[in-house]
Amino acid sequence: MRRQIGQSIIELHQGDITLESVDAIVNAANSHLLGGGGVDGAIHRRGGPSIMAETDEKHPEGCPTGSAVISTAGDLQAKHVIHAVGPRWQGGNRGEAELLAGAYRRSLELAVEYDCRSISFPAISTGVYGYPMDSAAWIALATALDFVRKHGRPELIRFVLFSDGAFEAFSAAMEQLT
Ligand code: ADP
Repeated sequence: MRRQIGQSIIELHQGDITLESVDAIVNAANSHLLGGGGVDGAIHRRGGPSIMAETDEKHPEGCPTGSAVISTAGDLQAKHVIHAVGPRWQGGNRGEAELLAGAYRRSLELAVEYDCRSISFPAISTGVYGYPMDSAAWIALATALDFVRKHGRPELIRFVLFSDGAFEAFSAAMEQLT
């Protein structure tokens, strides 16, 4: 499923983000940038130790929730990994929506700053962090649409969804968003 906005394309794909050959893949990181399970574990396993060596050196203080930092991508096909820190779901009244949008927005800003023409996102915060998939999908897509409308870049934004449920939620949100 894909949508064209000006010169940019937003598309949905079901699969494993570590196999993406785009300029940047986004990691659903935690604020300590210490690695973990889920997509973070998969990226560090396949990308090798140089990614964490770089984030340890450049960002020993970690990264605040709702923001992101960028590194090279080790053995991955991508050129960069953008480590985005989404919020842990705490019921919805702790600013989770704005923090999740912030993690996507900052990732897109970094992609543009580093001349990335293509970027792939996982469904940030929807695994261990427990963000409800339907609302997370809506926020992810609304933030991406808003960004490309304002900036006309990057050329390609892919959402790489791991499960059937994630793909269905993103597809439904994509159909409804104008
Ligand atoms: P968070 O802590 O932000 O919730 P997780 O890694 O636990 O991060 O999960 C984020 C989302 O990434 C979940 O929807 C999970 O199913 C998905 N995911 C896990 N592994 C991969 C992968 N290799 N490629 C793409 N998505 C993945």
